[in-house]
Amino acid sequence: MAKIVKDAILRGRKTVEDVVEGGLNTVENVVQAGLDTVETVVVEGRKRVGTAVSQGRKTVENVLLSRRTTMQAAVLHGREDVRIEEVPIPKAAAGEIIVRVGAALTCGTDLKVYRRGYHARMIVPPALFGHELAGTVVEAGEGVENFAPGDRVVALNSAPCGKCYYCLRGQENLCDDLLFNNGAYAEFIRIPARIVAKNTLRVPEGVALEHAALTEPLACAVHGFEDCRPVKGDIVAVIGGGPLGLMILHVAALAGYETIALVRRPGQVEAARQLGATHIVESTSIRTAIEETRALTPNARGVDIAIEAVGLPDAWQEALELVRKGGTVNFFGGCAANTRVSLDTNRIHYNNITLRATFHHTPAICRKALDLIASGRFQAGAFITGRANLYELNHVFEKLMNRSTEIKTAIVP
Ligand SMILES: [Zn+2]
Ligand SMILES: [Zn+2]
Repeated sequence: MAKIVKDAILRGRKTVEDVVEGGLNTVENVVQAGLDTVETVVVEGRKRVGTAVSQGRKTVENVLLSRRTTMQAAVLHGREDVRIEEVPIPKAAAGEIIVRVGAALTCGTDLKVYRRGYHARMIVPPALFGHELAGTVVEAGEGVENFAPGDRVVALNSAPCGKCYYCLRGQENLCDDLLFNNGAYAEFIRIPARIVAKNTLRVPEGVALEHAALTEPLACAVHGFEDCRPVKGDIVAVIGGGPLGLMILHVAALAGYETIALVRRPGQVEAARQLGATHIVESTSIRTAIEETRALTPNARGVDIAIEAVGLPDAWQEALELVRKGGTVNFFGGCAANTRVSLDTNRIHYNNITLRATFHHTPAICRKALDLIASGRFQAGAFITGRANLYELNHVFEKLMNRSTEIKTAIVP
């Protein structure tokens, strides 16, 4: 009996062992299979999550772009105090457009504003500034028919009223109610209705925005040159190798005139040559510059047209000394407020010299300027010697103040 019981117990143990073993195997298999499934699920899940995240990110970005309410912009606070700040993106009211700035160009006027901390006619800090720009329309206000989102445009810095005495005489540059716009050193800029209607131009295909942005200064240059009423065969002297001096020089050269560039700095010589100067007088002495220039004309009689593009009293006087009897002087460069210049009245009177002082531009001339840029004859690329982003703006102005050889820097926000 004891043996039977013992055998039974032993058999039972064996069975239990087998069952346990089998159970363990099954559990292991199940666990392994489970692990595999979990891994597959995790991998696939990760993929799905990744796709969802990246799609979500895109959606969020789009939503952010369409719902963005602020932008980065340069704000002038005072003398040499420009800060990049988060400011509201402007909204287009009736007749207005909002332009995403593609390129804003530095300009001597902006440098003056940076140095002084204000502009008597245009800017009271804290204020957005910068005025030479081209970009893409992102919003068109009610009633705007000529432009729609996606259009590439150059919006001029001002527009005349079209109603005053001067406007009606075709002297819109002298409009009693010239409306200025500033704020190009920013991601977006609001273009007032009057500028949309009168001085916003479509940028032709194939013309880079940074080149189109040269329309404003070039319009001033074209205006200054045409105002001298040049006659075929005239010799044209341009005093000053800054951006506008070089532009006037280039405009005169492209029109087929013999030109003399008077520059002060070695860095300007190469630019003047590239832009078509027939002769270059490089001198820091006014006396020798006058003599050298006159010596380049027949019988040293003097040039037919002398254009001052510096904005200093010495240069105004120098211009008067360069012209022949019956010649024309254009005091194109604006001097600081309250500047007085003494001129030799006998020389002016007995030599029958015509004095001009061209200011700003008109809508018709702005169109001419953009046509010239689009023609491909105008070497737009030569005027843009640097590129920078908004955050580098202070540095760019510091460099310009230290008389660097840069002509214009394109700020790409
Ligand atoms: Zn300018
Ligand atoms: Zn007017």
